[in-house]
Amino acid sequence: MSLPAAHDKPLFTPGPLTTSATIKQAMLRDLGSRDVEFIAIVRAIRSSLLEIAGVSTMDGYEAILMQGSGTFGIESVLSSTIPRDGKLLVIANGAYGERIAKMAAVLQIPHTVLRCAEDTVPAPDEVRDQLGNDPQITDVAVVHCETTTGIINPVTEIGFIAGGMGKRVIVDSMSGFGAIPLDLRAASVDYLISSANKCLEGVPGFSFVVCRRTSLEASDGNARSLSLDLLAQWRGLETNGQFRFTPPTHAILAFHQALVELAQEGGIAARAQRYQQNYRCLVDGMAKLGFEEYLPRDLQGYIITSFRYPEHPQFDFEQFYSLLNERGFVIYPGKVSNADCFRIGNIGRLFPSDVRALLGAIADSIAEMGVTLPVTSAR
Ligand SMILES: *Cc1c(COP(=O)(O)O)cnc(C)c1O
Repeated sequence: MSLPAAHDKPLFTPGPLTTSATIKQAMLRDLGSRDVEFIAIVRAIRSSLLEIAGVSTMDGYEAILMQGSGTFGIESVLSSTIPRDGKLLVIANGAYGERIAKMAAVLQIPHTVLRCAEDTVPAPDEVRDQLGNDPQITDVAVVHCETTTGIINPVTEIGFIAGGMGKRVIVDSMSGFGAIPLDLRAASVDYLISSANKCLEGVPGFSFVVCRRTSLEASDGNARSLSLDLLAQWRGLETNGQFRFTPPTHAILAFHQALVELAQEGGIAARAQRYQQNYRCLVDGMAKLGFEEYLPRDLQGYIITSFRYPEHPQFDFEQFYSLLNERGFVIYPGKVSNADCFRIGNIGRLFPSDVRALLGAIADSIAEMGVTLPVTSAR
């Protein structure tokens, strides 16, 4: 059975996250990258990822691990799969969508960005119009849970439209995979990217891509990077089970244990349920303290929540952050461009009891700052 996380401050962040003690203990080994045991672990992880995604190699999907954080995985997909004469449509309503656009710019991939406000979801009809007006577009990239705000984008509707128009669909499901259901076939997903240290609760060190084999194979010759070449990485894993370059062996051992603990918890439905409980506990408690959410409730996901700075002259985020830190809690600064916010994550090895403890520390911290807030009734 998994043990609680010992000693360290709980991380109410979008990652790296609080992990169980047993996940950390799984790293206390030195396995060689060519060791048969290690190769078997990598194989088992790849097959579990497909299972979590609800697909299999039998119906044409593959799971590929890539060294580096989630951003490296996205850059791997962009740099090595988009054809030289292709064009990417990036859908952006937050910092992570903007990061994809920036990546395309750095990689000199022709692209266009469909932007909408950070507190709104992109309209599938606008995506259809954009694709109709610009036939050069070959690929569409969209973020599933935009961690900037915590909003959940209509990935299925967008993917269905784009796929139906013959476009490849790339989904950044970094903070969604393993906790927010997504039917890859219905959403016509060609490439889904996530990483070890988000909802699957591993430690940082690698990202992974779940993709359609036919799309992957058709990307031959498109790579603009040697180390991030997704097709070459897949071929390496398929031929001898090995990474082309040094794998993060310890992070992979931790992840293997994280998947065992996910199964023990009851799989992704149970994990989603725990995160939802954390979320409910958080937003109810914050409303009682007088904090306001940035997003309307119907757009708000249960992964991470953005709260507005309270309008009180004594409120200072840096001080608030330090006071919470002194009390043993780590929250996250905001990333919204048009409002002052901070964020509180609900993911990682955290339970409603941890959220309640955080709420107590928040109440004490604002009291210490002399901040008193008018309490609106909980929505
Ligand atoms: C965490 C995250 C990423 C990856 O960020 P890294 O710092 O590279 O781990 C990308 N997209 C989204 C939506 C994320 O939440």
